[in-house]
Amino acid sequence: MSSYKVNNLTIPEDLPLIALKNTVLFPKIVMPLIVQRPKSINALDAAMLRNNLIFFATQKNIEDEVNEQDLFRIGTIGRVISVFKLPDGSSKIDVEGIVRADIVKLDDHGQFFNVKASPVTLHAHEDDIEEKVLMRRVIDQFRKISEIRSFPAILPEVIYMMSQLKDPEQIISLIAANLNLEVQDQQHILETINVKQVLEQLNITLTRELDIVEAEKDLMKETKKKIGKMQKELFLREQLKSIEKELGVEDEQAEYDVLRKKITTAGMPKETEEKAIKELNRLSKMPNFSPEVSYLRSYLDWLVELPWSDKTKERIDLKEAQKVLDQDHHGLKKVKERIIEYLAVKKQMNKLRGPILCFVGPPGVGKTSIGQSIARALGRKFVRMSLGGLRDEAEIRGHRRTYVGALPGRIIQGIHTSKVKNPVFMLDEIDKIGMDFRGDPSAALLEALDPAQNQAFSDHYLEVPFDLSDVMFVTTANTLETIPPALRDRLEIIEFPGYAEQEKVKIAEDFIIPKLLREHGLAKKSLTIKNSAVMDVVRHHTREAGVRDLERQLGTIIRKVTRKLVESPSIKTIIVIKEAIHKYLGPAKITHQVAHTKDEIGVVMGLAWTPVGGEVLTIETSRMPGKGHLILTGQLGLVMKESAQAALSFARAWVAKKGVEEEFAKHDIHIHVPMGAVKKDGPSAGTAITTSLVSLFLDMPVKKEVAMTGEITLRGKVMEIGGINEKVLAAHRAGIKTIILPFENKKDLDEIPKEVKKDIKFMFAKTMDDVLKVALK
Ligand code: ADP
Repeated sequence: MSSYKVNNLTIPEDLPLIALKNTVLFPKIVMPLIVQRPKSINALDAAMLRNNLIFFATQKNIEDEVNEQDLFRIGTIGRVISVFKLPDGSSKIDVEGIVRADIVKLDDHGQFFNVKASPVTLHAHEDDIEEKVLMRRVIDQFRKISEIRSFPAILPEVIYMMSQLKDPEQIISLIAANLNLEVQDQQHILETINVKQVLEQLNITLTRELDIVEAEKDLMKETKKKIGKMQKELFLREQLKSIEKELGVEDEQAEYDVLRKKITTAGMPKETEEKAIKELNRLSKMPNFSPEVSYLRSYLDWLVELPWSDKTKERIDLKEAQKVLDQDHHGLKKVKERIIEYLAVKKQMNKLRGPILCFVGPPGVGKTSIGQSIARALGRKFVRMSLGGLRDEAEIRGHRRTYVGALPGRIIQGIHTSKVKNPVFMLDEIDKIGMDFRGDPSAALLEALDPAQNQAFSDHYLEVPFDLSDVMFVTTANTLETIPPALRDRLEIIEFPGYAEQEKVKIAEDFIIPKLLREHGLAKKSLTIKNSAVMDVVRHHTREAGVRDLERQLGTIIRKVTRKLVESPSIKTIIVIKEAIHKYLGPAKITHQVAHTKDEIGVVMGLAWTPVGGEVLTIETSRMPGKGHLILTGQLGLVMKESAQAALSFARAWVAKKGVEEEFAKHDIHIHVPMGAVKKDGPSAGTAITTSLVSLFLDMPVKKEVAMTGEITLRGKVMEIGGINEKVLAAHRAGIKTIILPFENKKDLDEIPKEVKKDIKFMFAKTMDDVLKVALK
């Protein structure tokens, strides 16, 4: 057999072969193909010279070079119906599939492959019901797929054509060629020659394909929905913007521009400005609803509002400063002197370097107000911050920005409030800073105060250094004892001992009353408070080292006077005399502190120092039957207890020397220091305790108007102690007439006001004998 006929077409046994990549030619349909490879082009040329017939076999892989074993053996003989040569030498051809054929033999001519092929015909059973049903089903499914699938689309013409077709082979080819099948599946269909089997296979394939396109459809729907939602959101957002615009909410961009301008004009150091601009750029890229937006915005607000280079003009004129200090404060001669000296040094050095001033003294003695005066004298602004109860380092240095609600520390906050970089900055109560697990605030404080470090003070929140070197820091404390040593080292201590009664009266007259009158809108002539009346308030209505309570009490009087003047316009002037004070302030609250009104055995007045001023303490001892124990009560500290033991030992030895028989083993001694609410400690009660014990053992009363303070040794030597100024003032307040002090404290009397010195007789003791001589009756 060298040729055979199919549908009146004579087909030779020998044919040129074209290998197909990725596709299968089916019989009885027309398919466009591109012929590109040289071997294929040669095969095409050969066919065109003969009968236009070519054997099309599909490659098992997609290599360009093919061998015999790379080709499926069953292919389709096709007739080229048209050739369109393309400029690059390849051709686009339309081919009509004629018949399936099996490669019997393949030769590689070098130019192209030549095959011997024998036709393969389909086995159809047109009467088979099952086959018919299957056929219908397959057509139906294909139609459904064509309706749903949008890519690759199945043309409506194909569907129409199919409905007209009768030939099962043609239908199968059409379906197989139009479904998006894998090459292997297409080849499988081509190779199956039993129609029923092919239909069954197609049925399965189509069912699967239908599932896939349906799932695709759902997915598409979902995607569409999502896209719709996004578009809606976009639309709403645009609307929101226009509403905001209408409501006058500033345009964001404009806002950022303003902020940028503020940054560049804030006078920041270069690196700080760069950092701020960087953060601003970050901010402008953030979506509006990001929570970070508000943090970043307030951070930038802090940065631009800080006085990076704003200063008030400084003038150090010592005469002027002295004048201002005198204008604002009575007395405080030594304090003022030291402040002026301090300023002189500063002026000489042209920069505020060196130790920080620390005002130490009881409350209400004018520490804060003198700070304000310094600011006034220098023409600087004044800020004040209390450190009392501060335990957390972050209070000084700020929280890192990552914390919710983070803020800069108090130093930076103070600078921010003052709006200048060179205020007088008062740090109150530095003796009350604590330390715990949250870090040591005093270390952070040191960094702020230390002139060597503070030109680049780092605040955790700011993240950029701030120059504090122009700030004049001033600190206050009630006591030096609790100030951390490292901090204390940097301080120049200026002590405010408190005021004597006459000084208080003077302060009231010259400063407090005029100030209160101004505050109450009263003319000077409408009220006079007699000096004796003020003295009565000082003595019987206040008990303090400073004048704060005095100011409060006088305020009460002036308030009541104001009311009277307002209620009865006919009254023009009111004079407050001593006898009328109780009408304004009620009965005297403070009686003279000499608690005992007669000379008593075993009762002695001692003098103590406390952070809120001096105190007069009564020390009582008594003796009862017992076993020689010493009982101590009244919140005594360790040092005071030891000092009581020493006093007892000395007193026993002393009375024994005097030949007094005392059965110590049969008695208990009780020493009590009243005012149990106040913790007392320190060695300075030594002379007082000893005196009360000796008085007890000798049965001799102690003079009631005598008070004493001093430490003693076991041998009875009286030793120097501190706080003389405060103690003497307290004794004066209490109406004490004689004070026995250690001999070495004689020098401290220089600082005691004259008015006090003239009321009190001072005795200086070297030994306990000197003390007892004066104290005992
Ligand atoms: P501190 O800070 O020591 O507790 P303040 O400075 O608050 O005391 O003083 C309390 C009040 O007493 C202020 O009104 C202050 O003006 C007034 N004051 C204290 N000392 C004097 C003084 N020497 N001259 C005039 N006023 C004084």
